[in-house]
Amino acid sequence: MSDLTLNLTAPNGLNYMQPIGLFINNEFVKSASRVKLSTIDPATEAEIASVYAASTDDVDVAVKAARKAFNEPSWAGISSTDRGNLLLKLASLVEENAHHLATIESWDNGKPYIHALNVDIPAVANTFRYYGGWADKIQGDVIETSPQKLTYTIREPVGVCGQIIPWNFPLAMAAWKLGPALACGNTSVLKPAEQTPLSILYLATLIKEAGFPPGVVNILNGHGRTTGDAIATHVDVDKVAFTGSTATGRQIMRSAALNLKNITLETGGKSPLLVFNDADLKSAVAWAHTGIMFNQGQVCTANSRILIQEGIYDRFLVAFKEQVKKVSKIGNPFDDATFQGPQVTQAQFDRIVSYIDSGIAEGACLAYGGKPYKNVNGKGFFIEPTIFTNVKDEMKICQEEVFGPFVVISPFKTEEEAVRRANDTPFGLASSVFTQDIKKAHRVARAIQAGMVWINSSGDSDFRIPFGGVKQSGMGRELGEAGLAAYTNLKAVHVNLS
Ligand code: NAD
Repeated sequence: MSDLTLNLTAPNGLNYMQPIGLFINNEFVKSASRVKLSTIDPATEAEIASVYAASTDDVDVAVKAARKAFNEPSWAGISSTDRGNLLLKLASLVEENAHHLATIESWDNGKPYIHALNVDIPAVANTFRYYGGWADKIQGDVIETSPQKLTYTIREPVGVCGQIIPWNFPLAMAAWKLGPALACGNTSVLKPAEQTPLSILYLATLIKEAGFPPGVVNILNGHGRTTGDAIATHVDVDKVAFTGSTATGRQIMRSAALNLKNITLETGGKSPLLVFNDADLKSAVAWAHTGIMFNQGQVCTANSRILIQEGIYDRFLVAFKEQVKKVSKIGNPFDDATFQGPQVTQAQFDRIVSYIDSGIAEGACLAYGGKPYKNVNGKGFFIEPTIFTNVKDEMKICQEEVFGPFVVISPFKTEEEAVRRANDTPFGLASSVFTQDIKKAHRVARAIQAGMVWINSSGDSDFRIPFGGVKQSGMGRELGEAGLAAYTNLKAVHVNLS
């Protein structure tokens, strides 16, 4: 043990070495200022650890390391296949360390361990493996013009990427950012969210073990307004990729504008889920429940607005409440029976409570839940799954992202009304449509303003499929082949053959 590593024992008994430094040039180091940030177990409110937080000077050191690595033969000079193999190796290491990673993720974030192990960690490994496979298939084109000219395009890496991620899926968000960036030959300075700094530092040890050269991946914990802003404004960062709130997305856009950086933003939503009279009700209820309640409702694509055609409204509401009662068991994240752990922080808990108060004040009907829940020690940021009915579309609880186990449900009469109301927010990330009428399903899918539409499912993301939003839900796409576009510049080469 050194002062850059802590020996920790997690609530499930796992004893392991937790790095706490900044990860620069494949080494853990202290921050120049020696400032640390503390991270809390949201289930018990006890401090887990303090980790070093990066200052503007530390960001500069990490960006220089990333720039140097970008030009070094050990990275710029290796074949694309070898680059891909490093990602494949990392994917295997993630699988081998699944228990460690899932334990840390659950402890620091509050999500059920069983979900971290069976959903988050496979998503991380799959994303690295998928992009490992892409590394030697990133190609330009030969474009026919005339016999006197040969024209071709090359896909080049963008350079040093600043990657700023949120706390709801820390490891998965890191994989969504690092996978395509590294496959394309970029280097990265990645900043985890201050609420969940631990799992990414453990991932850093696996990145080194996989064999990535020093400086290719640098991980800096720290607060948004200091570390995050220093990354977004740094003159030698070529691109910023961000996932988080719309307000911060706007700020990143302003910061990146100083040096006209390439940006991709994924900024959340208020995603509608429409259920028509002819839908398979049981299936719609099950998907709608998972779609809003999974991960404590802290999912950017969460179907937080449910619109039900009036012929089945009453039956849906009864069945949905029964599903919540049956499935949404709140409790200790390390208990296998738990579906819902605590919210990530006191701030997120308070935010949800303020929306519950707002719903009541605006005259909506609190149809289920809405109260804090305390674990056996009377601690933890737990909140009951909450359903509001009798809502009006203009209410705050129907317009703003709550980011919790909180849903508004209302009836609609016609398809035209459902689509109009589905589109009636500033967001456009995801949406769901439940109907057995194939023509209606595709018609509505086209009419909805969203980056993603699920027909007869919800929240069913996949590393092979593009992910992202329209309107104020962001710009650019992650995942799938489309995710590569954000990490390459297309160069056109004109050869005069005359
Ligand atoms: P946030 O947007 O403030 O934080 C996300 C990331 O951005 C963190 O790493 C943070 O440190 C960083 N950041 C913050 N300010 C920054 C700045 N000025 N410059 C650069 N980086 C900065 O989100 P939050 O405060 O943690 O959560 C607030 C709300 O955001 C939530 O309630 C939810 O509505 C939304 N949210 C959405 C997602 C998503 O997946 N789209 C994820 C987390 C939070």
